[in-house]
Amino acid sequence: MADELILGIDLGTTNSLGAYMTPGGPVVIRDASGNSLVPSVVAFGTDGAVTVGSQARTHAVENPLSTVYSVKRLMGKGLADIREDLKFLPYAIDPGPNDTVAVRIGDGLMSPPQLSAIILREVRSRAEAALGRPIVQAVITVPAYFDDAQRQATRDAGRIAGLNVRRIVNEPTAAALAYGLDRKEDATIAVYDLGGGTFDISVLRVSGGVFQVLATNGDTHLGGDDLDMEIINLVTDGIRSQFGQEITFPPATRQALRDLAEAAKIRLSTQQQAPIEIDMGDGRVYRRTLSRQEFEVRCGKWINHTIEHCQMAMADARLTPGNIDQVVMVGGCTRIPMVLARVGEFFGRTPYTAINPDEVVAMGAAVQAGILAGMSRDTLLLDVTPLSLGIETLGGAVGKLIMRNSTVPCQASEVFTTYVDGQTSVDIHVLQGERELVADCRSLGKFQLRGLPPMPAGAPRIQVTFLIDANGILSVSARETRSGREASIQITPSHGLNKDQIDGMVKDSYKFARQDMNAHRLIDIRNEAGRILTAIDKALADAGSILSADERTLLDTAVADLKGWLDRTSQPAQPPDDDQLDAFYQIIKAANDAATPLTQAQMDSVLDKTVKGRKLTEL
Ligand code: ADP
Ligand code: MG
Repeated sequence: MADELILGIDLGTTNSLGAYMTPGGPVVIRDASGNSLVPSVVAFGTDGAVTVGSQARTHAVENPLSTVYSVKRLMGKGLADIREDLKFLPYAIDPGPNDTVAVRIGDGLMSPPQLSAIILREVRSRAEAALGRPIVQAVITVPAYFDDAQRQATRDAGRIAGLNVRRIVNEPTAAALAYGLDRKEDATIAVYDLGGGTFDISVLRVSGGVFQVLATNGDTHLGGDDLDMEIINLVTDGIRSQFGQEITFPPATRQALRDLAEAAKIRLSTQQQAPIEIDMGDGRVYRRTLSRQEFEVRCGKWINHTIEHCQMAMADARLTPGNIDQVVMVGGCTRIPMVLARVGEFFGRTPYTAINPDEVVAMGAAVQAGILAGMSRDTLLLDVTPLSLGIETLGGAVGKLIMRNSTVPCQASEVFTTYVDGQTSVDIHVLQGERELVADCRSLGKFQLRGLPPMPAGAPRIQVTFLIDANGILSVSARETRSGREASIQITPSHGLNKDQIDGMVKDSYKFARQDMNAHRLIDIRNEAGRILTAIDKALADAGSILSADERTLLDTAVADLKGWLDRTSQPAQPPDDDQLDAFYQIIKAANDAATPLTQAQMDSVLDKTVKGRKLTEL
């Protein structure tokens, strides 16, 4: 049974996906283009063809009656239970046997478990294709508030899909498992899940590896669709006022509007503006730009509702936000900056976002599957950081902030600066590993600090802080102290590596220690040389005339030598040895000495106001 593979499946209202456990942690199943999400949509063609996922979604335009989405809302329900939902679902629903419902497809009827099984089968076959082996075992997740009938219907769906459902797991519990929170002695966790059509807030208590649901609250009709609808309304209002009230939208246009609104919403999670362009089909084109601020004004009320539900859940659990030890973000809509900010504000702590919010439930299902299959989770244990952590500095070197074997929790901070005049953004590239060069370390993630006021090179003070909390979650933040601009990222550095790989990386660092050190020194010297050349150029422009002819010749020769050396070392076949490095120092020193009369003449120049620290790459 050691070889047994159990697939973890998040069977969502809007999207479904699978993940599996490896010694290095859970891994999400992706298709060739890297997509993990399978839209939970099933379409039935007149020719009998059944399509699932994104393909089925496009089908919805022409055949709304034979395109089934949101089937999760019907699982384990009777007709009386779904009165509310009926208003939203375009396909026909009939009563089914034993107080269930059935969806009418052509002349036939299909039960919700049968429809869900089609989605499960798709997730399963994608996993089989990715792993190259048959899969029959699964763990499937459901909302914490699902009752027995709904859980049973989910089990049935698995059975119909040919899966042996080893366990049904609560979605919030799975999310907490993905973050390794089951290893907490005792903790209270809030899981905030804002998906496509539903909002759930769950309060969990974990103690000795056992999860208990203290409270659940939410709204089964509040999600990304509502935010899309706000954008659609904004746009249709705009179109009507620009082109006349008589405009009506055919179904295909309505679907196009929906896709466009969703795309704009997603864009606004990372950009301040989203361009919107709609071809009216009659030669007229509607154009407008939607700003993040407009979006936030329109959607604020929905976010407020979610916070009200959080308040109710707290009251039900007899807790206050201050009692919550950890907040976990789940659902695609938690990528919206305002959502993150409001939730953080309510609970008074930064929520966990290190794992993709639309993949975290499937990853947790995989963790549960791994536990069932008897896989040990030792490699995820993080009492000390197994490898050093740092960021990329100018020239492809790694500036380490946290050394390997530091006990967690821990924090480290260092000030960096820029290399180019007027630089308004920097890239922060987070790396893990023992080697000196970026190319030899493992990239954990990247983010950008933007909107810096233009300053001379070396003037900005960019404070980079690494913080690893007791659960092993790494937060990296960068703050330019003069302007107060800030950006950050969260990462789970333990995912994806097993003990052997870690040992291998440490061994390599010994093997290549000397070579790496010299490669790093070369980068530092080259950076220093570049800085000196720029300073000399500036000084020559400002005060070149004070030099005597001899001084000028001396300086020109030294500069030419330095440039020649820079050219020769731009792509060294192998790192230089100590003697070569020492010789390079002499060349730099010569240039520096030759420039002394100049630099003395303009002592209070920019040069001396600069931070003589490590420098970050320009964007
Ligand atoms: P569910 O759990 O309901 O099946 P998901 O967690 O996959 O759904 O969430 C789907 C929703 O997340 C959709 O409304 C989608 O538009 C939204 N979404 C996905 N990515 C982003 C993003 N980057 N910014 C804002 N919303 C997003
Ligand atoms: Mg979900």
